[in-house]
Amino acid sequence: MYSNLYNSKSIRHIINTVSCLNQTILSKLDMEIQKKSDELIISKKEFAMQNEEKEKRNVELIIANKKIDFKNRERDIRTAELNIANRKLAFQNEEKETRAAELMIANKELAFQNKEKENRAAELIIANMELTKTNSELDRFVYSVSHDLRAPLTSILGLLSFIEGESKEADTLEHANMIRSRIIRLDGFIKKILSYSQNNRTDIDVEFIPLQKTIEETYEMLRSIKDAEGIHFEVIINEEQSFYSDLQRFTTVIENLISNAIKYHKKPQTGRYIKVTGNTTREHLHLKVEDNGIGIAQEFHDKIFEMFYHLPGKQSGTGIGLYIVKEIIEKLDGSIRVRSEAGTGTSFEITIKNTIT
Ligand code: ADP
Repeated sequence: MYSNLYNSKSIRHIINTVSCLNQTILSKLDMEIQKKSDELIISKKEFAMQNEEKEKRNVELIIANKKIDFKNRERDIRTAELNIANRKLAFQNEEKETRAAELMIANKELAFQNKEKENRAAELIIANMELTKTNSELDRFVYSVSHDLRAPLTSILGLLSFIEGESKEADTLEHANMIRSRIIRLDGFIKKILSYSQNNRTDIDVEFIPLQKTIEETYEMLRSIKDAEGIHFEVIINEEQSFYSDLQRFTTVIENLISNAIKYHKKPQTGRYIKVTGNTTREHLHLKVEDNGIGIAQEFHDKIFEMFYHLPGKQSGTGIGLYIVKEIIEKLDGSIRVRSEAGTGTSFEITIKNTIT
């Protein structure tokens, strides 16, 4: 009995103890669960935070990617632009190279043409030298032939005077007179050739020229020409400034202009005149030789200064006078021009440098 009691107590005690133990274990388990649950919450929060962080990172990454994308696109555009620019440059370079090649060819052509020109210039220099030599030989020849021709002409004129003095026959005297006028004409032509040659061969010989006196004397010499009869001659020169030039050349110019004015006058007619007017400055002589003769039509104004040119139908002259006048005036640093109309008269205006010093 006793033992049973004892057993019952002991079982109860064990049960209590077990129950207590259980309690303790349960409470410990609870605590453990609570702890675990806390830890879980914390780790959940951490996880959530990490997720948030990741999402933020993702957004940043997306933005960064978009930026990179944008930059890439900009780079692509830039690359495309660069490509276009490069192509343009390449094209321009090609064009430049083509142009350079063309320029090189053009340069070579120019160099070739220059060389040809140089050769031509050298040939021209040689030809010029030969021409100058031939010209001066020709000049010398013309001068000596003309000079030598005048002596027999003077002899013939002397013989004519002899015949005219001896003969009483009208025919002989008329023929002698015709021969005389031809000889005088021929002598006049030879004199012109001589003055042309002299103008080329000799240097300018400057001296004081008394203009009024020189022109009047020249006319006096020419007034014996038959055609000069009845022509009123007038010279008005304002010689304020002394005039210096080549006297012989100047006289040749005046002689030619006045003899032409006499030769090409209207005949017979009253009121015929030849007027020489002019003035001097420190620099120039301006002179006008004017007549109211037959005149020259406009179309011949340039031609009359050419060598051996005379107007169609008027065969009396040799056509060398005005050519010599122009040559001489050019040598004296001057100029000449004609004003004229057919039927109303002619005036030649000349300017000659005053070579004071
Ligand atoms: P020419 O020996 O024929 O006179 P010029 O050279 O002196 O040669 O003159 C050329 C031409 O100009 C003459 O043939 C003449 O027709 C014309 N001429 C020159 N001077 C005059 C003038 N004062 N009046 C009209 N015609 C003129």
